[in-house]
Amino acid sequence: MHELTIQTARRSHILDITRDVREAIAGEKGSAIVIYVPHTTAGVTINEHADPAVARDFESALERIVEDGWPWEHIEPGEENAPTHVRAALIGPSVVIPLRDDGSLALGTWQGIFFCEFDGPRDRSVCVAVLQ
Ligand code: ZN
Repeated sequence: MHELTIQTARRSHILDITRDVREAIAGEKGSAIVIYVPHTTAGVTINEHADPAVARDFESALERIVEDGWPWEHIEPGEENAPTHVRAALIGPSVVIPLRDDGSLALGTWQGIFFCEFDGPRDRSVCVAVLQ
């Protein structure tokens, strides 16, 4: 398994990690990869990465779908991150991507892999495992 380190720069931060994932599995053969985020306030998804505005729209949309101002119960002093847990759960902690016979990711033309930070900025980990 490969473990990538990601640095996020703001509270909600959707980062394109497609290149990092490609570099991590370069030269390996298998049927698919699993990308897994071992955090409770971050996730991973696949979506359009041709236009960087799509990632920013995800940040704005999730902040509206799950509002900060709700009467949250998970409130710890210095760590008021209840909505960020729910945003992360909506995105989910993992994706599976098939590998072609030449080892390349079977992503569509417009697809990229995005790390989805909801409680940054922080240093984060992303696990990438090649399935045989
Ligand atoms: Zn929390």
